Amino acid sequence: MNGDSGRCCVFCGFSADSKEHVFSKRLCKRAGAVKYPVIAGLSVEGQENVTRKEHQIEAVQVRHVCATCNNTWMNDLEAWVELRLGFLIEPQWPNLALPMIEALKPERNKLAQWLMKTAVMFSHASLQGEHPVKFSQAVTRKIKDGILPENCWIDLAFSKSVLSAVGGTLTRHFYVKNGSQPIQSQVIKSGDGFKFIVQFNHLLLRIAQAPSANVTYQSQQGEIPVRLYPTPNPRTPDNLAYDDIMKFERSVILETWKDCPGNIT
Ligand SMILES: [Zn+2]
Repeated sequence: MNGDSGRCCVFCGFSADSKEHVFSKRLCKRAGAVKYPVIAGLSVEGQENVTRKEHQIEAVQVRHVCATCNNTWMNDLEAWVELRLGFLIEPQWPNLALPMIEALKPERNKLAQWLMKTAVMFSHASLQGEHPVKFSQAVTRKIKDGILPENCWIDLAFSKSVLSAVGGTLTRHFYVKNGSQPIQSQVIKSGDGFKFIVQFNHLLLRIAQAPSANVTYQSQQGEIPVRLYPTPNPRTPDNLAYDDIMKFERSVILETWKDCPGNIT
């Protein structure tokens, strides 16, 4: 996060001459978070716990982008998010949330591009040294054209509790169920997958990638997220409500069939 010189924009390769907020000011303002600390969650490799450090939003900036990217497509994406998700990120969850969520489905590629871009920024914002999740240049250079790595998906849910107006977590840690074996926690090899979750007040969004696995969900009271990408749920589930961001984070279970790779979806 502190400026070594000669850095290149992670998205286009030009000189990184601009500062970018991981969570844009306009979205933080809409969420009512401008003067409050933001939680920048960091999953520790091999551990289930997430250590959380609070930083002022102003501090959660990275110098890994160029002014052209920052002022063009990245800015356009933030404006799009405010337009389409503005009411969903405000402190008060809107009465008309369901039609707003429904309206995201046809524009899911834009949402995916924004989440992927934000995940990359988040991976550079760790104040505790190198973030365990790294995105290769082959991945980051395609984001400006809206091209995502394969096997990504997006879930949306509601958080009953709001610890901080704006926050996020990025990890390579997954729960995996292999055949009839009990669920185990596993850290996926770098480059093979990730989970990135952002919370704006009650809104929870996850973009994740997990090759060679079937994605299922662990539920406590029947809650299940809305899948928005790549193929949206035709019907929004009745219960989208998770206790908090961590319950949502841990709800994903990857099912794999080691003995029978042909079954992998
Ligand atoms: Zn650039």
